[in-house]
Amino acid sequence: MDCCTAVEREIDKVLSKFTCLQDHTNRTIGELINSIQSIRNELLEVPDDQELTATQALILSQSVKRIREAVSRMSTEHKDLHGSVSKVGKAVDRNFVSDFSVITTDGAFDGETKIKLLNEVIAEHFLRQGMLDVAEALNEDAMLHLDNARKEPFLELHRILGALKVQDLRPALEWAEANRQKLMEQNSSLEFKLHRLYFVDLIRRGPENQVEALMYTRNFAPFANQHVRELQILMGSLLYLKQGLENSPYVTLLDPIYWEEICDVFTRDACSLMGLSVESPLSVSIRAGCHALPPLLSIRQVMNERRVPGVWANKDELPVEIDMGMEYIYHSTFACPILRQQSTDNNPPLRLVCGHVISRDALNKLANGNKVKCPYCPVEQLPSEAKQIFF
Ligand SMILES: [Zn+2]
Repeated sequence: MDCCTAVEREIDKVLSKFTCLQDHTNRTIGELINSIQSIRNELLEVPDDQELTATQALILSQSVKRIREAVSRMSTEHKDLHGSVSKVGKAVDRNFVSDFSVITTDGAFDGETKIKLLNEVIAEHFLRQGMLDVAEALNEDAMLHLDNARKEPFLELHRILGALKVQDLRPALEWAEANRQKLMEQNSSLEFKLHRLYFVDLIRRGPENQVEALMYTRNFAPFANQHVRELQILMGSLLYLKQGLENSPYVTLLDPIYWEEICDVFTRDACSLMGLSVESPLSVSIRAGCHALPPLLSIRQVMNERRVPGVWANKDELPVEIDMGMEYIYHSTFACPILRQQSTDNNPPLRLVCGHVISRDALNKLANGNKVKCPYCPVEQLPSEAKQIFF
């Protein structure tokens, strides 16, 4: 953050100088144009065959001199501005690290398979953002051959979301009805919320929709048990059909937040139903990387200063734990109570016969011949009886 502030300070300096220069230049040019204009008018009044008087010639030559001086002054000021602009570049270089090679894993993106995977991730990101043409262009240029089955879920998602954004509920309703069973299984209230928006919209449009609104209430039948309170509110709102919802105690039903909410609910539920993560894995990775870079860079610097390069020998593992906050925690993790280390693929958690769980490295350390004593309840068992568990 300090780096950003330092650069911002330089940018502010340039901007204030620039505004100052711009004002000054505009004013000078305006004055010069006015004076040229008045000289021109004066000259036009002089008949063609008459020579300039000595005073007129003097005024003319003085104006030319003044213009020359002004132009050269402006160009000097402009050059001065260049100095300030280049200071911004220097401030960026000084405050930000441009070379991250010290903390990258060599060969992370080498090889055809890895490059193809990376391109697929990028193409999927564009599909997810709804930038279908960009994704298609990348698909062709990088010869990814993404098949339609891979693209279809994203296309459908964006078609429905696009409709929801212009308050067209039909595509979303059709999709939710078709997937009702699965949505119910994941305890989703998407379909109910879609019907509620449709119903409120009918009521909002006034008494001429009374019959249609009443008929529409049938759609709520499958949700009667789950959403009793909300349904009571909706039925109550029917009483204000004539008076208008906006003049009723049910005015909150018209809150535009419901339309914003429905887009989020749809994205979340549809993604989870289609087996997609709600956020693009690429943008999550980049955000996580931005979060992790500063501490990693400072660790690297400390390691270089103290000449302990070996500490970060295992490139698959970070030398320090980086607290990413709850937002980035997707899986449960296991920390071995004996070694006080987080388990890894090479050192997975093992469940002992007695039910206690320790890491494989801890078990190997504790094993005595072909026997091991649980460090918690001293049950003796064979190390081979321990079973790997997966979180
Ligand atoms: Zn035990």
